Amino acid sequence: MVTSWIAAAAWGLGSVLWAELVRDLYHVLSHVWQPLYRLHIWHHRVFRPNLVPVSDTIYRQAQWRHDLPESLAMLLFGLPLFLAAHFWTPEQQWLPLVGTVYTLSFLAGAIARGYGVAGAHELTDLTHLPGPFLAPPSNWFVNRTYHWRHHFDNQNAYYCGTLTLVDKLMGTALSLQGKTVAVTGASGTLGRSLLLHLHRAGAKAIALTSGDRPITLDIDSKTKTFKTVTWQVGREAELADLLEKVDILVLNHGINVHGERDAIAIQKSYEINTFSTWRLMELFLTKVRSNEEIARKEVWVNTSEAEVGPAISPLYELSKRAIGDLVTLRRLDAPCVLRKLILGPFKSNLNPIGVMSADWVARQIVKQARRDTRNIIVTINPLTFVTFPIKEFLVSSYFKLFSNKGDSGQVSLASEPETRFF
Ligand SMILES: [Zn+2]
Ligand SMILES: [Zn+2]
Repeated sequence: MVTSWIAAAAWGLGSVLWAELVRDLYHVLSHVWQPLYRLHIWHHRVFRPNLVPVSDTIYRQAQWRHDLPESLAMLLFGLPLFLAAHFWTPEQQWLPLVGTVYTLSFLAGAIARGYGVAGAHELTDLTHLPGPFLAPPSNWFVNRTYHWRHHFDNQNAYYCGTLTLVDKLMGTALSLQGKTVAVTGASGTLGRSLLLHLHRAGAKAIALTSGDRPITLDIDSKTKTFKTVTWQVGREAELADLLEKVDILVLNHGINVHGERDAIAIQKSYEINTFSTWRLMELFLTKVRSNEEIARKEVWVNTSEAEVGPAISPLYELSKRAIGDLVTLRRLDAPCVLRKLILGPFKSNLNPIGVMSADWVARQIVKQARRDTRNIIVTINPLTFVTFPIKEFLVSSYFKLFSNKGDSGQVSLASEPETRFF
């Protein structure tokens, strides 16, 4: 009895999931196969960046040329499911009808929009409605902010229509092409590797460093000099103008005082690892105002595996856990995507006995970011993959329950007096 209920649920939900997979693959095909692209291009001609249709005629044409054939493909490729159900579980052979009914609702919507039925656009075309974006791009379900990027950020990414699974599998859930990405701690081992792999992914990488020499890297036997901006911990506000133009801010600077535990070591660790990172994050969030900024801007914070495990360096752990928790807290209301980089020990100047190479770690970070992983875990410690998600869920739920958004607005992020350690 229980087994047949599970099988029934699997056929019902599976047929809906299958319809969505067909929809997204049809869309991908529409971008790579010319005959379909000629029809699909109408869908891209319709909207202005504020998602208001250019004209009613083009909008209606786009329904007949893209949305209707897409729904018909979903219907057609749903048919083999009936055959499969008939042979495997004959008593449930009609359950793929769930997917068919689901698809028919989209078919009906496309026809209604094609005929220009009043209210059809508002009722059935939810990812193309104009108006201010109320949330950053969502992670598992496509919202307006997510889909806007397919039209106006990169048409060769963000293909999904309802679930983001296909984009995650294809690495098209975040496009770095043409994005301006600023990386702090850029002269460090990981910072340099991040610059390299972000550059390779098509981003315009900017190095933020306390050093005054431009960062150069040998890439494919050529020397590449990155735009380098010098800044100091405690003087984050001086980066305000630069951050206006930055799409993704990667907060990667840090200090490890190892076994020290005196007052200066405490101050240094918290000032650099926690508060400097937090101030830059807050400053960046004040730059997220328009729909485009909500859709494109992101912060990545290197909070480290020390969030959930020992790093043989108590003050490193304390200060990294503090910034990790602050990111968890701010994520509840942040106007754009905040990612965490949960990294295990890699070989660097801070940690000469690290196991992983910084180059490999940076490559994994970029790869997972393109899959829109919000908590990017790169480590050789299998425990972290279990403990981090549990910890993040529990802490986030606790913060959600016992804190509220408030309306205090922005804190003053004016430059702090320059710290005497630098
Ligand atoms: Zn669209
Ligand atoms: Zn498209």
